[in-house]
Amino acid sequence: SASLFSAIEMAPRDPILGITEAFNADTNPAKINLGVGVYYDDNGKVPLLACVQKAEAILIEQAAPRTYLPIEGLAAYDKAVQELVFGADSAVIQERRAITVQAIGGTGALKIGADFLQRFAPGAQVYISDPSWENHRALFESAGFVVNNYAYYDAATHGVNFAGMLADLKAMPRGSVVLLHACCHNPTGADLSSAQWDEVIAAVSAGGLVPFLDMAYQGFGAGIAEDGAVVRRFAAAGGPLLISNSFSKSFSLYGERVGALSVVAASAEEAGRLLSQLKRVVRTNYSNPPVHGGKVVATVLTTPELRQLWEEELAGMRVRIKEMRDAFVKKLKEKAPEHDFAFVRDQVGMFSYSGLSKAQVEQLRAQSIYAVDTGRICVAALNSRNIDIVIDAIAKVL
Ligand code: PLP
Repeated sequence: SASLFSAIEMAPRDPILGITEAFNADTNPAKINLGVGVYYDDNGKVPLLACVQKAEAILIEQAAPRTYLPIEGLAAYDKAVQELVFGADSAVIQERRAITVQAIGGTGALKIGADFLQRFAPGAQVYISDPSWENHRALFESAGFVVNNYAYYDAATHGVNFAGMLADLKAMPRGSVVLLHACCHNPTGADLSSAQWDEVIAAVSAGGLVPFLDMAYQGFGAGIAEDGAVVRRFAAAGGPLLISNSFSKSFSLYGERVGALSVVAASAEEAGRLLSQLKRVVRTNYSNPPVHGGKVVATVLTTPELRQLWEEELAGMRVRIKEMRDAFVKKLKEKAPEHDFAFVRDQVGMFSYSGLSKAQVEQLRAQSIYAVDTGRICVAALNSRNIDIVIDAIAKVL
């Protein structure tokens, strides 16, 4: 007889996890997975950063009891994150208008922000870039929002359709929530120029939109401060502002789930009210965040030698990805001179919309090279040993 669960259907498969499953099932020892969203070093391994190892050694030595953190997280963490995201000399910090709560990764930060907005702006609609990170739409829909796209990627130029984006921003109803990738756009790798950000900020202000900046890759674009500059410019423009940030990639701490949500209020008094409501969202979801990752990141960010080490290690990741972009473009030019992949060098962050079609991605798969059907490749999964294999395979399918 029918039970509560018997009629429940299978949920749709996550397309990216599907690639990983197919990759894992492939018995070819030379298989290569470019479908991932993770930084690998030149040996094809997820790094454990030396700054993290050193911070963990300090924490083990301290042998602190595992008490609950406050609902908003570790105070030292929240403060250090705030200074990283807004800049240590930020006016919004000095005026106590910024609040930051530790979150369970960047995803958790987005979800706290979405639940908070749903509570206080229930009629607003959300706009995300076309395309955007896999989970943005589902996450805001699950918080109760209608989610729309704004124009973003231009397949013809492999860059941003800026005229389309700006027109869409200008057409959004006042009070709409607009989700923007602060840097290193996932999945396309196509970012706005500084001048284009000026126009976006002006359109957001003039249109009375609520900007929600998602910064999952700070330090992977031009540098830590350079990538964070967008946040500072939005903060300076005034108006409500939300920022989710993640240390999954920049600290290679994926499984520790370390991120934060920051919100900029109009006054210190308003900030206090917002913080109390954000705490309520956290409290009713998971009560308070985990200790370990927050302590590791806070220790690194606030200990000068470790901080310097982190900045060097992050620069190392950033530079290696750029080298892979260069090598990709150069080698493809040699193998397939009639095709122009120079745009891959202009894209930033871990990903590239390579322009490969679904059919070409399928042909690559037959050669045990795995990419996303959209043509997204993870440049950070290329290394000095697999790049020639990848280039040969791509040249064959072009
Ligand atoms: N936002 C974007 C744009 C991302 O690419 C990712 C991760 O891939 C996230 C958020 C989520 O980050 P986390 O893994 O820290 O939850």
